[in-house]
Amino acid sequence: MSQDGWSGIGTRKLDFGGGRGKEILMGAALALVVVAALVLAMWHIFVGEKPEAATYHMKCLKCGYEFDTSDANLPDYVWKAKEEHPTASLRMHCPQCKTEWSCVPMTKCPNCQKYFVADEGAAKIICPYCQTDVADFAAKKAQQQRR
Ligand SMILES: [Zn+2]
Ligand SMILES: [Zn+2]
Repeated sequence: MSQDGWSGIGTRKLDFGGGRGKEILMGAALALVVVAALVLAMWHIFVGEKPEAATYHMKCLKCGYEFDTSDANLPDYVWKAKEEHPTASLRMHCPQCKTEWSCVPMTKCPNCQKYFVADEGAAKIICPYCQTDVADFAAKKAQQQRR
């Protein structure tokens, strides 16, 4: 009997203390879940191996064939090349003339909306159709939007 009473008090004491502790614990767990989800989302955006929804308008420098592709459609050999040369720009084999690494992503002119192949070595990317400086145009547009 006395043992039951003792354990009863013990449990009641534990319940009282545990009640508040549980709330704090649950709050901490919830915060942890939110933080974990945020970190995961950021991880996917910034360090994810395959950034989502990036699309490319490619052109073969050999035969002039143009086609659209996206990260979701990039063949494995492209990902492998990207891993080996992370700073190199995207290159693909041509599906038309079968030349290896002959296809490069085209730049879309923000002014006339036409696609063109930018000169990789050039300091500035200039649209060959309307002579727009792409970086300059983007900067000016960003400035206008801020006003
Ligand atoms: Zn080709
Ligand atoms: Zn243009």
